[in-house]
Amino acid sequence: MPAESRLRPRLRVPAAGAGRFAPTPSGDLHLGNLRTALLAWLFARSTGREFGIRIEDLDTDRSRPDIADRQLADLAAIGLDWDGPVVWQSQRLDRHHAAVERLTAAGLTYECYCTRKEIQQAATAPHGPMGAYPGTCRELTGAERSARRAAGRPAALRLRSAVTEFEVIDEIHGCYRGLVDDFVLRRGDGTPAYNLAVVVDDSEQGFDQVVRGDDLLPSTPRQAYLATLLGFDVPRYAHVPLVLNRDGKRLAKRDGAVTLADRLAAGETARQVAAVLTNSLGTIASTPREALDRFDPETLSHSPWIFEPSGLLRRG
Ligand code: GLU
Repeated sequence: MPAESRLRPRLRVPAAGAGRFAPTPSGDLHLGNLRTALLAWLFARSTGREFGIRIEDLDTDRSRPDIADRQLADLAAIGLDWDGPVVWQSQRLDRHHAAVERLTAAGLTYECYCTRKEIQQAATAPHGPMGAYPGTCRELTGAERSARRAAGRPAALRLRSAVTEFEVIDEIHGCYRGLVDDFVLRRGDGTPAYNLAVVVDDSEQGFDQVVRGDDLLPSTPRQAYLATLLGFDVPRYAHVPLVLNRDGKRLAKRDGAVTLADRLAAGETARQVAAVLTNSLGTIASTPREALDRFDPETLSHSPWIFEPSGLLRRG
């Protein structure tokens, strides 16, 4: 990775707001990821916003700098550009920890000693929402906490949520109401959790528009609620349809030639791949720039796109 991309960027909040693409560097971007990036770019540029890239590399088991470099090269190869330096999330840890401290000082966190298995086994409250943390550690006494600490269990830090649901407005899904539980803010190993980091980074980096895959829509009420607790403005959201394979499953490496490198190896050019992606949005355009003139979020299909092994995408 270029040395300068690792420098700590200055906090720069653009006047007209900004959109972003925030890949996890755990594998090469496939056509679905590239299409999401294209949409994030179109949403930002078509509304006069800047566009930034943040590499979400907090999960050190999954993240690799060489993959991030390839992701950036692929984005550029299909004709996307971005403003300012690429930001590496791992360089913002002090900001994430500062936010956790603010929440803790306000009495909005608690330590949780549950293992993943215990959480799965614990029956959620009879009428509690499905998939919610059951609150096992929420009301531990000081003595109970000390006993668990003494047993050497690493504690995660959870949000003490005052709500069980929160509503967000999404450009594509409209009004979406979803679960907010006592979600993890800091993992047992001390790493900031995704839901915390994304909220802090989007706000502090001036990203007021969040365009990403609609698999993340269910996490969004948690993030929007957390933003309000931290005193941040809630961004404008657009959760875009994923690309699926013919079995209706999320596109993956096993589906064939799904990355730009695969497509180039099969004899296509980056320009042709960009054209397939822009056409998949229903615009007759062969480059992102051309698509920008014709982009209308109102006409964007809400259904997933199906990847055919031929490489063509069709509406699901
Ligand atoms: N890093 C996440 C991913 O690659 C995206 C997070 C986001 O856009 O908020 O799935």
